Amino acid sequence: MTQAMHRILVVEDDPAIRGVLRALLESERFRFIEAATAERAQIEARAHKPDLLLVDLGLPDQDGLVVIRRVRSWSPVPIIVLSARTLEEQKIAAFDAGADDYVTKPFSAAELLARVRAALRRNVRSAEVPQELAFGGARIDLARRTAQGPEAEIRLTPLEYRLLECLARHAGFIVTQNQLVREVWGPEHLGDTRSLRVCVKNLRAKLEPDPHRPAYLLTEPGLGYRLRPD
Ligand code: CA
Repeated sequence: MTQAMHRILVVEDDPAIRGVLRALLESERFRFIEAATAERAQIEARAHKPDLLLVDLGLPDQDGLVVIRRVRSWSPVPIIVLSARTLEEQKIAAFDAGADDYVTKPFSAAELLARVRAALRRNVRSAEVPQELAFGGARIDLARRTAQGPEAEIRLTPLEYRLLECLARHAGFIVTQNQLVREVWGPEHLGDTRSLRVCVKNLRAKLEPDPHRPAYLLTEPGLGYRLRPD
């Protein structure tokens, strides 16, 4: 698939920023669709079925979080937030609403394009969860639920496999603590981040070459975790 076929819906009320984004995205041969309000965003998203959304949070009619939640209720399309809000809890709210990535304004054009490409790549792959993960010398077969270290087999618990699977579905992207607890332990355990921290610690001890300096199962301070397999 060529990039020219990718449609990107930009939800942004500031015409100057929309203009910059249009020039930037069209120069990379993306098709640019725009919406200046939350209401318009939902109409355009349904009409054009974009391959990716770039969503500002401060919109005149409704919060951008509403756009993310509504679109996420019917589509797995990648959503990147582009916002001047920099507080940790604002980022967490966006990830919990269903955003895949978060870029703060003012943004670097090169970084934004890199995130767009990464999100589109993830979407192409998102149908299949990777069957095998490599962590340095360790190989984890998620389908068979086996793990092989440099010398011996590594025993992982069912919870540890579930946590790895959840992170692997979003490999390269932040998954919030709430998302992980909801998917791995179930919604009735929301708020129980202690079990999550213990599980991550145990996984690192078993899989990371140096568990005190994780290279694969990364902490995103205040937000959640990110898996970066080989
Ligand atoms: Ca705005």
